[in-house]
Amino acid sequence: VTSWQGKNVTVAGLGVSGIPAARVLHGLGAVVTVVNDGDDERSRTQAEELTAEGISVRLGDGATLPEGTELVVTTPGWQPDKPLFAAAAAAGVEVWGDVELAWRLRGPDAAPWLAVTGTNGKTTTVRMLASILEAAGLRTAAVGNIGVSLLDVVTGDETYDVLAVELSSYQLHWAPSLRAHSATVLNLAPDHLDWHGSMEAYAADKGRVYEGNQVACVYNVADKATEDLVRGADVEEGCRAIGFTLNAPAPSQLGVVDGILVDRAFVPDRQKQAQELAEISDVRPPAPHNIANALAAAALARAYGVPPTAVRDGLRAFRPDAHRIEHVADVAEVAYVDDSKATNTHAAEASLAAYESIVWIAGGLAKGATFDELVAKSAKRLRAVVLIGADRALIREALARHAPEVPVVDLDRTDTGAMSEAVRQAARLAEPGDTVLMAPACASMDMFTNYNKRGDAFADAVRELGASA
Ligand code: ADP
Repeated sequence: VTSWQGKNVTVAGLGVSGIPAARVLHGLGAVVTVVNDGDDERSRTQAEELTAEGISVRLGDGATLPEGTELVVTTPGWQPDKPLFAAAAAAGVEVWGDVELAWRLRGPDAAPWLAVTGTNGKTTTVRMLASILEAAGLRTAAVGNIGVSLLDVVTGDETYDVLAVELSSYQLHWAPSLRAHSATVLNLAPDHLDWHGSMEAYAADKGRVYEGNQVACVYNVADKATEDLVRGADVEEGCRAIGFTLNAPAPSQLGVVDGILVDRAFVPDRQKQAQELAEISDVRPPAPHNIANALAAAALARAYGVPPTAVRDGLRAFRPDAHRIEHVADVAEVAYVDDSKATNTHAAEASLAAYESIVWIAGGLAKGATFDELVAKSAKRLRAVVLIGADRALIREALARHAPEVPVVDLDRTDTGAMSEAVRQAARLAEPGDTVLMAPACASMDMFTNYNKRGDAFADAVRELGASA
């Protein structure tokens, strides 16, 4: 776009990404109309504010494309099968997401992007990456799906050397011209299939992150689907495929040898040398899936030219975010761990794999998932299971099929207070040395406003338990 002046832009949806997009476009001189399906109290208040600023808002009709629209800018909540997009396609009008908009406005000029996507581990990896880049003395920020708007970053006054960018599959779906310096798909497991329509469509959207990469496409050796996406991508000449593995690395890979994270990709002689980066104990928590996250972050940082010492210092300085395998307390020699962020089966499987003898608190909204594989793989680690939430029957049935000997307490509750009872029941079932792990494998919205609230409820219940012990 050479000039925004007078350009008719329709923004699909109010909310956290629609409102900033509308304001930025209006500020550039575009004629902006926001369309929104809902017409509730909150949207009306937001609409009033925007209207006062000179932005038109149409509430209660998100399906019709406003007359004269030249570009649609959409927000992540909007599924690709919405009628508005069919109308745009029929009219030959392009659709951009918030990330595409940020990229087109100033993407390449603001700073190179090191991009991270994948089903699980995105936020953790992006934070580790930012920590490593900071340790290297670079001006950087962790941005994107992590909760910091790329639009704000590229239009703001701050200057950066390089950005650590978390991208969701939704954002990638609508970001056709994005070109990262280097990028990774950490892993691929079924999630959000209702939005994308199929696993193939979901994988294809994730794979977009590799398109046009300049220096490195980083993939997970243990997850062949991620490597296939690299092989299928159209990249800049000289861009390399770099694998990460929990085993000893082949040339052009990062991996682990005798408890040391090593690099055989960004070294002068890939056949011979392995550069030591950090120790496993530098990674918090040192669970296998998290070491994989650290290796992916290290690969992207090394692709950018960061020295080994900065990888080590950055990993040491990194602290995990709340509700991600967070050790809450020990009560009566039982560890209580909050992994409320395990909102799908793939994530829950990773955290169950990190402990030996577990009383597992699970359940919530299944989002169309099945639990057979998760339960079959984790059965031998389970001391007992406490089930809560709307779709708990699905987990109970999978347990009956694959772990019939494991005691199950089905609380048959979806009220907020259920968490406190779940913790009491878990405490009763646990033995010294066990871990009570709340990794629900489900979304939280049946019982809580979000996973943070679910994690807080768990932590509160553990504290109550500690106080009464
Ligand atoms: P995202 O931003 O992709 O949702 P997070 O870093 O917030 O990922 O982690 C979400 C949850 O996924 C964690 O609580 C943990 O249970 C799990 N997890 C983290 N990294 C991985 C990984 N590499 N593989 C599988 N599960 C993971």
